[in-house]
Amino acid sequence: MRYAIFSDVHANLEALERVLAHAARAQPDVYVCLGDVVGYGPDPNECVARVRDLGAATVAGNHDQAAVGAVDLERFSALARAAIEWTQGALDPAARAWLAALPLRRDIGGCLAVHGSPRDPVEEYILDLPGALANFSADPFARCFVGHTHVPGAFALEPDGRLGATELAPGSAVRLRPEVRYLINVGSVGQPRDGDPRASFLVYDADAATVTLRRVPYAIEKTQAKITALDLPPLLAERLAFGR
Ligand code: ZN
Repeated sequence: MRYAIFSDVHANLEALERVLAHAARAQPDVYVCLGDVVGYGPDPNECVARVRDLGAATVAGNHDQAAVGAVDLERFSALARAAIEWTQGALDPAARAWLAALPLRRDIGGCLAVHGSPRDPVEEYILDLPGALANFSADPFARCFVGHTHVPGAFALEPDGRLGATELAPGSAVRLRPEVRYLINVGSVGQPRDGDPRASFLVYDADAATVTLRRVPYAIEKTQAKITALDLPPLLAERLAFGR
């Protein structure tokens, strides 16, 4: 089985379409979306429809929950809050109902799929080794896929307890060893924050036990023009060019 796993679309339709076009080349059996389909970007309804109609196994992100009024907006930065309030007004009833029904975690061929972390599926950012270790300890998963930080990469826990962080170089397959536990961040489709503005997604080949990160250029200026034309903060357009 091959899985095309993506996260944090953030209503960026241009980036999503390019990712899906590239992902199709890997001929995935299953598409997986790790949440934050909406928030920040200009096309929430279109992105929800695309992910829904694709039949992607999707989990809820913090922005998805906020957009349907399921979490307190006080927890968000002023920038995020402005985007969420705009998104709340823009969502159509079908998109809202779909977002509201998303589960917090899914089993993907024996792997755990969540937006943030195994112990706090929606809110927690796994940013460093202590954060990763706390999650390896809190949940017995062997392999877990996350998003939320918008920064791709992997943490690996060896059987002897050694924990390491691994960069995922775009285009090169990383072999997953059966005795090692992994926490793998697939990066962000619609708002990368690792300094590379290209959209990110990952192909997981369960039979070969490999993960391959992919980065895809898209028409950033088109998304920026849409954001600028709407009542969304201009910074949300500017940051796309820098991948921050
Ligand atoms: Zn996000």
